[in-house]
Amino acid sequence: MIKPDYPSVLLIYTGGTIGMIENPATGALEAFNFDQLQENVPELKRFNYRISSYQFTPPIDSSDMEPALWAKLVKIIQYNYENFDGFVILHGTDTMAYTASALSFMLENLSKPVILTGSQLPIGVLRTDGKENLITSIEIAAAKYPDGRAVVPEVCIFFENLLLRGNRTTKINAENFNAFRSFNYPPLATAGIHIKYEYDRIRKANPDIPMHPHFVFDTNVIILTIFPGIQENIVSNVLNTPGLKAVVLKTYGSGNAPQKPWFIRLLKEATERGIVIVNISQCPTGMVEMARYETGLHLLDAGVISGYDSTVESVLTKLMFLLGHGLTPQQIRNEMHRPIAGEFTRAEL
Ligand code: ASP
Repeated sequence: MIKPDYPSVLLIYTGGTIGMIENPATGALEAFNFDQLQENVPELKRFNYRISSYQFTPPIDSSDMEPALWAKLVKIIQYNYENFDGFVILHGTDTMAYTASALSFMLENLSKPVILTGSQLPIGVLRTDGKENLITSIEIAAAKYPDGRAVVPEVCIFFENLLLRGNRTTKINAENFNAFRSFNYPPLATAGIHIKYEYDRIRKANPDIPMHPHFVFDTNVIILTIFPGIQENIVSNVLNTPGLKAVVLKTYGSGNAPQKPWFIRLLKEATERGIVIVNISQCPTGMVEMARYETGLHLLDAGVISGYDSTVESVLTKLMFLLGHGLTPQQIRNEMHRPIAGEFTRAEL
């Protein structure tokens, strides 16, 4: 029998491969409902935990994820916050890193675990990776110190054997079970025979400060990747898009870009119009250091700010989050230099 003080976890099923079955007629993967998911993981009943569930109806492929659904997830967590020790979100892998990043900003003063997981193979398939991902995520979401504090009070992604900080994570593989990496921050835990927590890497929370949920986003943003041969008319059209408020500029190496005068002029004009431009490297590992090469210095002069070692997913969602709060471009630039939820390693320009 489950005692009332036993760990409690809310499972939120949004969709994704983990809960899909093959349509015999078309061969395509389609979502099925949560009861079927539970039938396929009878191990869930062996947990001595209180596990409740909430299901998105209909479940979605995560390619259809959007800020309104992030707000829905935050509402579900807010509504159930006092009643559960932790939350596990079953989510498609394709946009999981965006959702994890967005939630890390939206759940201010989080003191409970929010663990996103999914799978590469549907849970009904014999070789599925979904069962282990789900079971270990539940265990992590329920892990507490003897005084009742959560071991991992963060938004994380658990996949294959790694627990990663959500806003540091990127999907890197569409084939292997080991689909996610956090290139610039080490794992918070590794799951083998035991779940080995790296306590000093995990964010410290203060459960006495109430969790403060946020719901607003402004999606007038774009990711602009530079490449040899990029054309002036195209960059000009992107930067002059009506309503555009922020750009994630994906540059080379340690944050370098072409020195062509038209390129620097277009960026400068855009920042002067109040568009916030954040420099992120196309290299997944390492830090933007614009003062290192002349090609980066031009960007600094044009008003471009550093994204340090952030992921694209985290910079994009943070910009949408800050813009949603109606901050001025200068306030947004200041906030982009300050980690809100451990999303980048602070370094000098
Ligand atoms: N297309 C699926 C999704 O992201 C892939 C997955 O779940 O792994 O929803």
